[in-house]
Amino acid sequence: MKKERHILGLSGGRDSAALAVFMRQNRPELPLEYFFTDTGKELPEVYSFLDKLEGFLGRPIQRLNPDRDFDFWLDEYGNFLPSPRTRWCTRQLKLRPLEHWLRGDLDTGTTVHSYVAIRADEPSREGYQATHPNMLVHFPLREAGIDRAGVLEILDLSDVGEPEYYKWRSRSGCTFCFYQQKIEWVRLFEHHPERFAEAVDYEKTALKDGSPFTWSQGESLTELIAPARVGQIKADYEKRRERLRRNRRINPLSANNAETVDDIYGIDEASSSCVICHK
Ligand code: SF4
Repeated sequence: MKKERHILGLSGGRDSAALAVFMRQNRPELPLEYFFTDTGKELPEVYSFLDKLEGFLGRPIQRLNPDRDFDFWLDEYGNFLPSPRTRWCTRQLKLRPLEHWLRGDLDTGTTVHSYVAIRADEPSREGYQATHPNMLVHFPLREAGIDRAGVLEILDLSDVGEPEYYKWRSRSGCTFCFYQQKIEWVRLFEHHPERFAEAVDYEKTALKDGSPFTWSQGESLTELIAPARVGQIKADYEKRRERLRRNRRINPLSANNAETVDDIYGIDEASSSCVICHK
């Protein structure tokens, strides 16, 4: 009989967590293998959320560690920081370990079903494409018509809840992810000063070596965290938030009333993040 595997990647974010809960509730017969590709630069809140989720799922979430860490690859890329245009981090720290995990089976004819957390309200996002003829990609949330409000409901009703970091940041992923907004950098400084300091060190080395990129566009983290600049970033954020509230009619029955940094800055979630790291 032809061999099959069923895999579901968790990013530490809410969409993939909701998909895992949804599959546990609706397809309990599937021998799903849950996995998390660990860059080694994740927030501590991600690990505690994965532990909690593991308890609900009643199955282990396999941690896939890259064979080479971020520091190795940074050195390989001449100390050039990754950026939205040169996203070597996702390739080397997320996709490569996944390929290593599956390659042997895919090449020997196993069909791998991959379940990906693209929601019904993300029409523009083509999401994850199969990279091997033996891989089949499924989008159960989209097929079931589950949107952002539905995702929040699934997490709430299952008591899995949301990762703690959503109180101050809108995405999963590395502590220093360049998709962060400036207000999120300020909050990283406030919540995890040691992680912020690490990002500053990487940036200083990169700039010294001629990297054209800073983590945040247009300024270094040292400039961003100067007291006057922090005050300006916070004031700007509050102004935008107030404007959004004035312009939006609140529906008391909708879970979509929750604000994210992306809502406030009018950012399209699909174009400003990565399906591998942030779902
Ligand atoms: S979370 Fe951001 S920095 Fe980390 S691998 Fe993904 S895109 Fe790169």
